[in-house]
This record gives sequence, C-alpha cells and structure tokens, in this order.
Amino acid sequence: MVRNQQAFDAFLSDVRTFVRNEVFAREAEIERLDEVPADLVQTLREKGYFGWSIPQAYGGAGLSTEELVLGALELSQAAVAVRARVGTNTGIGAEGIVVDGTEAQKQQYLPRLASGEWTGCLAVTEPEAGSEATNVQTTARREGDSYILNGSKCYITNAPLADVFTVTARTEPGSKGAKGVSAFIVERGMPGLSTGAPYRKMGQAGSPVGEVHFNECRVPAANLIGGVEGNGFRTVMKTLNKQRIHLAALSTGPAMRMLEMAVAHTTTRAQFGQPVANFQLVQALIADCRTEIFAARSMILETARKRDRGEDVVLEASMCKYFATEMCGRVADRCVQMFGGAGYVADHSEIERWYRDVRLFRLYEGTSQIHQLNIAKQVLAAHR
Ligand SMILES: Cc1cc2nc3c(=O)[nH]c(=O)nc-3n(C[C@H](O)[C@H](O)[C@H](O)COP(=O)(O)OP(=O)(O)OC[C@H]3O[C@@H](n4cnc5c(N)ncnc54)[C@H](O)[C@@H]3O)c2cc1C
Repeated sequence: MVRNQQAFDAFLSDVRTFVRNEVFAREAEIERLDEVPADLVQTLREKGYFGWSIPQAYGGAGLSTEELVLGALELSQAAVAVRARVGTNTGIGAEGIVVDGTEAQKQQYLPRLASGEWTGCLAVTEPEAGSEATNVQTTARREGDSYILNGSKCYITNAPLADVFTVTARTEPGSKGAKGVSAFIVERGMPGLSTGAPYRKMGQAGSPVGEVHFNECRVPAANLIGGVEGNGFRTVMKTLNKQRIHLAALSTGPAMRMLEMAVAHTTTRAQFGQPVANFQLVQALIADCRTEIFAARSMILETARKRDRGEDVVLEASMCKYFATEMCGRVADRCVQMFGGAGYVADHSEIERWYRDVRLFRLYEGTSQIHQLNIAKQVLAAHR
C-alpha cells in the first residue's frame, strides 16, 4: 500500500538521487576505512532513514510494507554497509518494540531509534542457537524489580556500536524450545553487558558484527518486552516475518546494481573487434539476471501488499527471502563472469566486493535450508 503516491514518488526519487549522487562515490572509502563515515551517518539521520519503519507517532516515517520495500530496493543499491547501518533501526533492532512493546517502552526507545540518535540491534543467535534459534541458553532470573541476565550472543549485526539490544533469554528454568523464552530491551551501560571486537568477515566491510556478553547483567523488569514472560519468541517471529520481506528487497537492490555495472562493462569491453555484449552467450547471462530480478521484485511487492492488507504472509515471506537471496547469489556469480578477470580483481572492478558482500544474505535471518524446510512444512500442512 502506497498511502500518498505523489509524496511517495518524491521520497523515492530523493532516495535514488541521494544513493547515486552521494553514496556511490563513498563506497571505496567505506571499504577502506571499514566503517560508514560519521558525516554520512549524520546525513542518514537528517534524512530520517533510521526511522523508515517506525510509526509516525514515535518519530518515524511509518512506511507501509510496500513503501518500505520500494525504499529498500533503492537504498540497497549502495554498499551493503550503508543500509546495514540504518537497517537494524528500521528493521530487526526496533521491530520487536514496535510490534510487542508496552506504550512506555515505545515512548522511551522508538523516538531515539527513529532519529538515529541510538543504534539498535537484535541479539538472538548464540553459539548453540543458530538455525535452532529456540535453543536459547541465555538466562534471565527475576530479582525484585530487575532481571539478571547471563549468557552470550554471537554474530550480532551492529553489536559493536549498538546503544540498545533486543535480547532473547530463558525466563523459565528447565524449559525447552520457544517456551519459556522472553525478550528484553537492554541498554549499553547496564551493568554486566559487554560487547566483543568486530569480527573479521568475508565481506560487508563497514558493517560491524560481534558478540554480546551478559555477566549478571541487571535489567529493569520494565524492560521485559510487552511486560509478559514467555512471549519472546513470538516477538522475534513477528519481527522476522516482516524483516524477511524487507531482506528480500535488500537482496534485490544489490542484484540490480551488479547487473547495471555488468551491462555497462559488457557494452564497453571489446573482444574479437566488438563489445562482448554482442555475443549471445553474454546476452543469456544478462537475460537470466534481469528475469530473476523481475521475478524477485514481483514476489516481494505482491507479498508486501498482502501484508499491508492484514493477510497472513508467513509462507510468502519465507519464499521471498529464499528466492531473492539465492537469486542475488546467482546474479553476483554471473556478473563476475561478465567482467571476466576484472571481476575477480579488486583493483579492476567493484564486482569483486559485491560478490563477497552478498554471500551473507543466504545465511542470516534463516539459512536457505531453513526456509526450504519452512516452505515445505506449510505446503504439506495445507495438503493434509
Ligand atoms: C555477518 C552475520 C550477521 C548476523 N547478524 C545477526 C543478528 O543481527 N542477530 C542475530 O540474532 N543473528 C545474526 N546472525 C546469525 C545468523 O542468523 C546465523 O548465523 C544463522 O541463523 C545460521 O546459524 P548458524 O551460523 O549457527 O549455522 P548452523 O545452524 O550451524 O547451520 C550450519 C548449516 O547447517 C544447515 N542446517 C542447520 N539446521 C538444519 C536443518 N534442520 N535442516 C537442514 N539444514 C540445516 C544450515 O542451513 C547451514 O547450512 C548473523 C550472522 C552473520 C554471519
């Protein structure tokens, strides 16, 4: 659902212009510094990018799902680190509070996340809870008007710079699976919380990812999301259900950018006396990329509109995430091919960086295998 087409067209055009005119030129710098420069982060704040999906009542833009994915398709054509910088606030780092937070929690945290004053993150994964995300070992025990958290989270995007963490922890000792898991809002500075150094990664330079440790970490009971124990996993699943459509869009923008670069290369690189784009085998690579991008975009928009109508999209969100992230991997591979040797050499093309950056999409927020299982489970359940 686009609420006001004219206003939204202007917004989208502004995003496109900003990304192309101001961000593309900074990508090499982001890669070299391994961070998004402070002045660019400040511009992202001023433009309201941190609050895209946060309701207007709490200082965000209140974008519908369709508006969010259309924005994401544009923003994600820039280096992944740029959208990842705002992405936890406008996605997994705030959504738990948006969907299940109490009014007091929303008022306390959402305005600062929407403005980008604070950076949020979602800390679910643990050493023993990856694909089996319900195997939560982090514990939270009630002590007066506080909870005491103990345990560790790993692979958490933006953890090294986050100010506020949405954390899953087991409040019911001895419980198994999703039962007995609660979600908490933990602020940096609460005693007993620490974060590790950013990992060295394959790609996405400038997007720090690290560990979060809780050592007798005291969190006010008022920071239990929704004020009810045992709902933590439901909160996470609601968050991810929307986020999977969002991530599908964030995987399609990079595919569009890579194809744009590859097409430009094939029309200028000459071999056998003519641009390599003249060769039909190269054209087949272009056609397969473009067709798959169109398919992903169509799926994403249909699912976003369905979600905006209030319909259930659990199956569709999983299919979007699975298809778009795998599609992006195939496009990256074909684009390296179209660049030839230059596609492999960082000094000669940017495709080498994109190829590494997009590999992650198929791993986080549910690996492709986990989505295949989800999709099949729902198809089979409907059949029985
Ligand atoms: C850079 C990065 C950023 C991340 N950001 C975040 C974040 O912000 N917040 C957060 O909470 N987490 C985050 N993650 C964690 C991410 O979601 C997990 O890595 C992912 O869910 C996979 O878990 P795992 O790494 O333990 O792999 P494993 O679960 O160990 O999987 C290993 C392999 O086994 C397969 N597998 C596992 N179970 C099954 C099964 N039942 N059937 C078939 N195949 C199976 C998987 O598909 C995979 O191929 C991030 C990870 C990375 C690398």
